[in-house]
Amino acid sequence: MPKQKSIYTVHLGCSKNQVDAENILSELIAHDFKLAVNPNEADFVLINTCGFIEPAKEESIDVILNQLEQRSENQKVIVAGCLSERYPKELAQELQGVDYWLGTYKPGEILKKLGLSSPHACDKLPERINLSEHPHHAYIKIAEGCNRKCAFCAIPGIRGKQVSRSINEIVLEAQELEKQGVQEITLIAQDTTFFGREKTSVNENLYSLLKALLKHTTIPWIRTLYWYPEFVDDELLDLMASETRLCKYIDMPIQHASDSILKSMSRRYSQKSLTTLMQKIKDKIPNVALRSTVLVGFPGETHEDFETLMSFIENFQLDHLGGFIYSPEEGTPAEKSQETPVSESDARLRLSAITEYQEEVSLNRNESMIGQKVKIIIDEVAEESEYHFYGRTEASAIDIDDIVKVIEGDAEVGSFYEALVVDAGPHELICKIL
Ligand code: SF4
Repeated sequence: MPKQKSIYTVHLGCSKNQVDAENILSELIAHDFKLAVNPNEADFVLINTCGFIEPAKEESIDVILNQLEQRSENQKVIVAGCLSERYPKELAQELQGVDYWLGTYKPGEILKKLGLSSPHACDKLPERINLSEHPHHAYIKIAEGCNRKCAFCAIPGIRGKQVSRSINEIVLEAQELEKQGVQEITLIAQDTTFFGREKTSVNENLYSLLKALLKHTTIPWIRTLYWYPEFVDDELLDLMASETRLCKYIDMPIQHASDSILKSMSRRYSQKSLTTLMQKIKDKIPNVALRSTVLVGFPGETHEDFETLMSFIENFQLDHLGGFIYSPEEGTPAEKSQETPVSESDARLRLSAITEYQEEVSLNRNESMIGQKVKIIIDEVAEESEYHFYGRTEASAIDIDDIVKVIEGDAEVGSFYEALVVDAGPHELICKIL
């Protein structure tokens, strides 16, 4: 019998890239591969790269170079992901030791490259591989690509137009994850609120997907990331307000709040419509946790534009807020902008002002919860620490937001508990399990 081949994976970048690596592994495992626990023992090493911004590109290249240098005899190196999709020729020329180049995930491509049979010729159904460090949680990618044309973003050029999966297929995947013991799923896409809307033949959207997941699974926490303000409607908000299994959590990257910058960014909303929407969200779901992301230093951003953004942030007191400094990305409309560039020092100052303000908001919010009872999920045992476990409330997405540190009580990883908040910091709640 031929020796079973093993594969080790390094996935870089976002959760969408993690799901791509999971899909590649599922296909290989259906063809008798096994997962290796360390790269030295593996016959193949798969590096799933990120090409989003400059530091991510550099990290990906470093990881590839390291692996080529350290690889064991006869080991094959496969490079996949956004970076290899974006610069296929340049990379293949620079990194000649790589054995297989894949680009972003395309079903069956890895099998063809390795000379294995087509996915349909395999007699084993692919098992759903979950690479999450916390196996009670899994990401489900509901669509690939993006139909929007945000001026700063390279993603549509890398991943193409949006292609949504069918609700049926997503439900089957969720059911399989549920059988594996998954307690929380996080739905992801470049723009989850656009899910299904590119299809003319079927009437599927995020609302109908969530309804189907609620009906056909019993997964306790269902969370969705990356909303775009344009398609957040009453139906969707009312569903979130009424269904306890839908996490009362909205991640809606607004990028900016000044009309002129929103226009230059080609974002399809205004300060007024955004204000109305944010107010509506708060009215319909009073206990919702709101996360957003903003981009400062976009070409042409004046001091007044920045003040408008700051006032918006102050007005809405978001639960979680991430900020980035604009960097010109190759092939994007903003790269050719004729507007006055913002100096690096100004952009840094603006980002610091936002970050410092948000630290205060987060601290006040968390401190106001001292003495309250909260439902938490336990994510992991706290090793070498005064705490027993780390976990989260439904107001926090895994790997992204604040954590709960359990100082007292016994618990099992992947289970839910009622806990009392006894102390707080800007990014943590200290709790006792009740
Ligand atoms: S919606 Fe997101 S992924 Fe799509 S173009 Fe805009 S920023 Fe990029």
